Amino acid sequence: MHERISSRRDIPAVSKVLEAVEGDFDLPRPVIVAIIRDELSVLRKSRTVPDFDDVVAQVRGALNRHGRSRLQPVINATGVVLHTNFGRATFAPTTALSVAQISSNYSNLEFDLTTGERGSRAAYVERNLAILCGAEAATVVNNCAAALVLVARHFAIPDREVIISRGELVQIGGGFRIGEILQDAGINLREVGATNRTSVTDYSKAISRNTGMILQVHRSNFFMEGFVESPRTQEIAQLAHKQRLPFVVDLGSGALPPTAHLAPDEHEPMPGETLNAGADLVCFSGDKLFGGPQAGIIAGKRRFVAALRREPLFRALRCDKLCLAALQATIDAHLRKSTSDIPALGLLQISKDELRARAANIFARLRGLPLQISVGRGRGKVGGGTLPRSVIASVTIDIVPEGCSLGEFASRLRRTTPPLIGYIANNCFKIDLRTVLHQQDEVVIDAVRSACSATLPPT
Ligand SMILES: *Cc1c(COP(=O)(O)O)cnc(C)c1O
Repeated sequence: MHERISSRRDIPAVSKVLEAVEGDFDLPRPVIVAIIRDELSVLRKSRTVPDFDDVVAQVRGALNRHGRSRLQPVINATGVVLHTNFGRATFAPTTALSVAQISSNYSNLEFDLTTGERGSRAAYVERNLAILCGAEAATVVNNCAAALVLVARHFAIPDREVIISRGELVQIGGGFRIGEILQDAGINLREVGATNRTSVTDYSKAISRNTGMILQVHRSNFFMEGFVESPRTQEIAQLAHKQRLPFVVDLGSGALPPTAHLAPDEHEPMPGETLNAGADLVCFSGDKLFGGPQAGIIAGKRRFVAALRREPLFRALRCDKLCLAALQATIDAHLRKSTSDIPALGLLQISKDELRARAANIFARLRGLPLQISVGRGRGKVGGGTLPRSVIASVTIDIVPEGCSLGEFASRLRRTTPPLIGYIANNCFKIDLRTVLHQQDEVVIDAVRSACSATLPPT
């Protein structure tokens, strides 16, 4: 590599670099040109300019990285069923078809086919959701965080407080803290109790003329043990009703079929039972255990749901037609108890025998590659802040590559098409089959084969 002190003259022309790379990338031309310009401007600022070939290699690297950020299917071999990084719940073909049909045709989104006049958006979804949750009424917004903000603002703005236990100021994922999001939305929080212990008395002492509502947040993704106390939902509900205060429960995941078979020692609260226990409203995510699209489902008292729908903010948080199309398919699948149409639930129920049989097939097909392979045990999770104590036993393909490090092997698998993401544990690369959709076994075999060859694009 010859490096020289840079002068303007040494920087290759955009058109020349473009000519060298354009045919190799499936990116729109203006994007390729912009990325070339960015790379060249970095060179312009550095003291030395590499050879033309090295410049082209650098540009190719930048184009590859950008191309890889395009939304695309991946194989989730992590064993975490509801993985926020991988889009949480996947859709069954029927749900995907419903989205495709609604998106490629006009629809009766806000048109009443009975009267021929303007109709109510989401009427079908809302009615069926209410039936499913055993609620008087239900509605949907963009996600559960939006549902929480909508509800809290409705009851607390302009000058009221939301009472919440200090043990429930939960952080959900990267940078999403319930307390902060409510405060940023202009809500005054009245925190009660201690991190590990909150009693009904703590709630009752905090109630004043300024109280707007009491909020209970399900500790989705963690659990507390030891010197802990928190009142049951019924007890808070009784207090709230005596004081004529709305009582709202953020369930996070919201189990519809019970989860006892997945986790004997842990209980994921269900919307219906929480409403029965006295909550006026519950909210939960559409794409966690519910197994549908990103959405925030709100269910409960009719007059509260109706008031929420009249909030100007509701308009800003409403779901689009694609979301509604996916939701209605998912809700109906729940109502029909058709688990096969809700992959998130189906994946959690696959037996280990079935996974073992698939592992044996994949194992046999990978023989002869420069790898040490064995069939191992997986300790998958539900994910999405659901049943955090429970491990979902699984079956893995454990690989030790012969020609490269585990990190390099993982990186190669991320560069296959589609990319495969597993994890490294006990000195091997593990592919957990619980989250590999069964029709993807061939794709897994191909991915591992191509990770063993040298034809992948560079990092
Ligand atoms: C996941 C979760 C949320 C956020 O849900 P989104 O649909 O991702 O906005 C809110 N509250 C709880 C308790 C959760 O577990």
